[in-house]
Amino acid sequence: MNELSVSRPNNLDAYWMPYSDNRYFKANPRMIARAEGMSYFTPDGREILDGTAGLWCCNAGHGRREIKEAIQQQAAILDYAPTFQLGHPIAFEAAARVAEITPDGMDKVFFTNSGSESADTALKIALAYHKARGDSSRVRLIGRERGYHGVGFGGMSVGGIGGNRKQFGALLPYVDHLPHTHGLAENLFSKGLPEHGAQLADALENLVALHGAETIAAVMVEPVAGSTGVLVPPKGYLERLRAICDKYGILLIFDEVITGFGRLGTNFGAERLGVTPDIMTMAKGLTNAAVPMGAVAVKNSVYAAIVEGAPGGIELFHGYTYSGHPLAAAAAIATMEVHRAEDLPGRALAIEPYWQEAAHSLRAAPNVVDIRDCGLTAGIELAPRAGKPGQRAMEVFRRCFDDGVLIRVTGDIIALSPPLIVEKPHVDRLIGTLEAAIRAEA
Ligand code: PLP
Repeated sequence: MNELSVSRPNNLDAYWMPYSDNRYFKANPRMIARAEGMSYFTPDGREILDGTAGLWCCNAGHGRREIKEAIQQQAAILDYAPTFQLGHPIAFEAAARVAEITPDGMDKVFFTNSGSESADTALKIALAYHKARGDSSRVRLIGRERGYHGVGFGGMSVGGIGGNRKQFGALLPYVDHLPHTHGLAENLFSKGLPEHGAQLADALENLVALHGAETIAAVMVEPVAGSTGVLVPPKGYLERLRAICDKYGILLIFDEVITGFGRLGTNFGAERLGVTPDIMTMAKGLTNAAVPMGAVAVKNSVYAAIVEGAPGGIELFHGYTYSGHPLAAAAAIATMEVHRAEDLPGRALAIEPYWQEAAHSLRAAPNVVDIRDCGLTAGIELAPRAGKPGQRAMEVFRRCFDDGVLIRVTGDIIALSPPLIVEKPHVDRLIGTLEAAIRAEA
């Protein structure tokens, strides 16, 4: 075992932690040293049940032997080779494996290294598509309030989280946002897709009226928004968005970074929700997070317009040094194999009713103002402490960790997304520990 990975580091100063309260953490560090199956372990060997699949990414559970061995073998064969005007077999194989499980007709796969890069790649592909078709005025990108598409300038601009945008001043011009679909009083404590709110998709008609369809390239939404607290689309909402996009020649992009690879009980959210986008982003579960990798899958017609319609030479002026990196490609192939062999989406679907009932049992706990779920996700919304937004949920998070369970919080919302290998006793422990923590912080 690598001693460094399990020891307590002497110096916490140099590492500027992402999306963190650095000062609090460094004064009160909570470290993870290793992981296996459904569990993390602290440097002193304490077990922590993972209720979040890392950051929604270790869908097959931790420390998968098959994935580890594939990475090790690949590292010994080919550490790196460029994929600009050159290829290595494993990147092509990884793309083919991904294309096997994307919706029909979405068979072209572009590799990135993260969800953020996938979001920016998808937006650039949308712009390139319209340009290739002679529709150069279509440069406007539409996102949605409370949408999260990572931290690149494209995804951040199209994303709709104030805290992620305000610190950075000028963002992309030519961006607008749909209203979010959350918080309708009639939808509180909905199980699965809420009944009310499909008409919120009609706001796209208003944006078309305001800007002109001829200026709009694409609409990007998460099928189920995860990072802003599990916001589940109302029944019929995505269908309406799809219909309006079709009516005006606007591309529909699904950000499937969280909903991909079984999280909703199907390969992708598109399948579960019955709506196929033109472009979809993915990352996280693609490699079970063992090596960073993202991807963008597009409809064959989108690829054809850009690639086959090009005069010759490079068709898309976009790519990353590590697009299709051999180690990531090896991890993706091994992950796809586990995904298929163990039918991870099927496992998620099978345990979903139990999960749903367990999550909704928290309704009886104090300060719980809403609960929602879809697939193996759950959002448990707490009433904020007066004048201290986010504090109650953060205290619940800390108490759960100290009691041996990892949850995730965003504002005063607790977001749960266990690995898809979760079993009933894990669910009982996760929800039981969480309930005790919510009661303790009442
Ligand atoms: N898109 C969605 C829907 C996400 O949930 C995330 C991360 O949580 C991202 C994009 C960004 O992914 P990454 O952190 O890998 O850049």
